[in-house]
Parts: sequence; structure tokens; C-alpha cells
Amino acid sequence: MSVRVRFAPSPTGFLHIGGARTALFNWLYARHTGGRLILRIEDTDAARNTQEAVDVILKGLRWLGLSWDEGPLTADATGPCKGERGPYYQSQRSEVYQRRVEALLSRNLAYEHEGAVKFRMLREAIVIPDLIVGDVRRELTDREAQDPDFVIIRSDGQPVFHFVNVVDDLEMDVTHVIRGEDHLSNTAKHIALFRAFGVHPPKYAHIPLILNADGTKMSKRDIGASLTTYLDEGYAPEAVVNYLCLLGWSPKDNREIIPIAEIIERFDLPQVLRHNARFDMTKLEWMNGEYLRALGDDRFHELCVHTLAKAGIDTNQFPLDYVKAAIDTCKGKLKTFSELPGYAGFYFSEVGDYERAAAEKDFTVENRHRLIKLRDALDKLGDFGAASLETCLKGAAAELGVKAGALVHPTRLACTGTSSGPSLYHLMQVLGRDRVLQRLDRAIATIPN
Ligand code: GLU
Repeated sequence: MSVRVRFAPSPTGFLHIGGARTALFNWLYARHTGGRLILRIEDTDAARNTQEAVDVILKGLRWLGLSWDEGPLTADATGPCKGERGPYYQSQRSEVYQRRVEALLSRNLAYEHEGAVKFRMLREAIVIPDLIVGDVRRELTDREAQDPDFVIIRSDGQPVFHFVNVVDDLEMDVTHVIRGEDHLSNTAKHIALFRAFGVHPPKYAHIPLILNADGTKMSKRDIGASLTTYLDEGYAPEAVVNYLCLLGWSPKDNREIIPIAEIIERFDLPQVLRHNARFDMTKLEWMNGEYLRALGDDRFHELCVHTLAKAGIDTNQFPLDYVKAAIDTCKGKLKTFSELPGYAGFYFSEVGDYERAAAEKDFTVENRHRLIKLRDALDKLGDFGAASLETCLKGAAAELGVKAGALVHPTRLACTGTSSGPSLYHLMQVLGRDRVLQRLDRAIATIPN
């Protein structure tokens, strides 16, 4: 039977990095086996669930590139996700749950109790066979030995998590339940429910938790815990996916940067590590830098334009060649895309305030004279390419009897407003003669003489 897995988040308004990894491992397993991935929104708790909370999840999964395979066609068939299927929403499946409760009631496997419906739990130890953690034997606790039954429909008519989770895994023919280890403690209940429905439970694979670097449990507020952080801060999704793969899975050869196609080929559940993984932000940042350096030009360009747009910089107002040339000077220089607006924003807007410390150091009276000299040389320069600009600046420095640095720093500050950024000669070439002269004129006018 072909593999069917599901990612079944409860919409809390937050996609935890652990949840994203659970989604990823399900996706990897589906792609590895040629199976299917179902996305199921566990939203029976109507009070807490909102469409915005669901959107956080959908946006995160789409950003990571984790596509799911099943579900009703999206209503908005003309929208950006045209043709996308699903997800399933538990809030739209109450008839299914109703039918299943009646089945249990009619066979006396469940009973009414103070307005609620309770499930007759097995009165014996249950062994949970798990592909990652091995066999886990779950004894009845003292309290459970007295009354192991549990509520499956609350007195207000709401079905509880254990029940809908099992009913849907059954109805959706889920073959493997891959989820966080925090659910291991629920699994005995789930197995008992499957048996009550007269079917074998799916195979279980509980993934160990993600801890903070110091070994403490990762909470919502910890740095890096929310997937949204990576979207907002301009990480490359490819890098985040690669990093998440290594949180709990390893190709056994110490390699770290691994193309996703190869991970899909090699990923399997028994290799998921049994110990908890530690989240290492420094390593993720390093990996992101590596990915940014290796991105193909078109993809790099696309992500840059997107990041600039989010920062309010509309590159559409500039000729495409100009935007391309500007972005080219940033390649290999960024650790995350969030650095880009600060790094390259000067290409797309006039220089505002000069970086203060740099202005105090570089906009001196002597440098003012030097900038005037350089400005004249640039005005007369024939070819405005990087090599020719370098020769010109060095020539002007030599004539002034100063090192090139004495001209480089104030020139950079005049052209960009900051003391760091892309290679000076290249950025001047991109800005072009008119902008460079204009910016030098403005700086010269700013410096007191
Ligand atoms: N809705 C549950 C959660 O978000 C899913 C549990 C499961 O994957 O079975 O934790």
C-alpha cells in the first residue's frame, strides 16, 4: 500500500520551527516513497481558530516549498495558489465525527456521561511500536487503573483532539503518523481508538524535540522559534529547509550542505536520530550565507527584488539593467537578505543623512579639497567602468600625494551615505557618472570649508 502521511497542525497563529520540521519530515517521507502528503488543519477548537492563524501555516509551508497533495480544490481558483488542493479543515467535517461516535455508541464502546460522550478505554498496558523510538510500553497509571475512560465529545458537543485525530487518520487512510515526541503520551489512547474501530493503527514515528542551544526546552518566545522570523528577515528558504533536515536526521557522512533532491533520496524514518536536537542559530546563519553565495543569478535577483519591495523600495521604477547590475554587486556579500536594504538601498534612493561617525572622520576640510579634485577628474573621465574608475581614483590620490584610502572612504560615504557596502569602483560604475557627480557635489557642499 502506498504511503500516506499528513501534517496536522492546530492553528495557533504561530508556526513553530518544530512544527515546520514535522511538516518537512512528512513531506520528505512522502517524496522519498512516492506517497502522498495530506495537510489537515485541526481546528475544532472554534474559539481559538481564525483564518489568519491558518494563513500563517499556509504561508510558512508555501515559503518552504512543502507542497501537499490532497484536499478539495481551493475556492479561490484564480488566486496566486491557483489549482492548489486542500487543506482539509476539521471544522468542516462534523458529520464524519458524528457518524463515528454513533458507531461507537451503538457497539457500547462509548457511553454518555453527564452530557458528554466517553470512550471505554482498554484496561491493559499498551505497547506503541515506533519506527524512531522503538517499542514503548505504556502501563495504566494508578488513576487510569480506576477509571481509564476519557471524553471524546464534550458536553457542549465539541469533539476532542484524540477522537478527531484518530477518525481522520482512519478516514484519510493515513499509513504513517510522523509527529513530535510530545504526542507519544497520547498514542496509547489513539491505538485503543483504532482498535475500537476494528482497524490496525498506522505506523508511528515520533520525532524527538528541538531544544535551545543550552539544552532547555524551546518555547514560543525563544529566538528563532517562529518560522515567520525567517520569512521576515530574508533567509533563503532553501537554507532553512536544509538546516531543518539536519535537526534530527543525518546523512551519516558529516556533510551539511546537501541538495534537497539528494535528501529526498536518502531520507528514511529509521535514521531519524533518537536524541533531542539542539537549535543552533549561528549554524543556520552560516548555512544561509552559503546558500546565498551559491544561489543562481535569477533566483538571487528574484529574492533581492522581493526583499527590497518589502522594505518599501520599489525597484520597478528603475531600468531592469540598472537593478540587475546593482544586485550583482551584492552577490556573495550577504549573510541574510535582511541586510540588503541597508547594503544596497542607496542605489534606489538619494543619500539621506550620512553615517555620523564616518562623516566626522572622513568629511574633513582636507578631504573636501580632495573630493573636489576627484570630482573634476571623474567629470573628464572617458570610460566610467570599474577598472577605469580605479585607475582614475588612484591617479588622483597620487597627484594629491595621499594613499588611495584617503579618497576611497570619503568617496564611498558621499556615494552611499555609509562606510561599508559593495566594492566602491563597481558601485560607482552602476550608479553612473551623473549620480556619482551629483552625490559628490552634495557631499562637498555639506562639508564646512
Ligand atoms: N493537531 C496536533 C498538533 O498540532 C497534531 C497531532 C498529530 O500530528 O497527530 O500538535
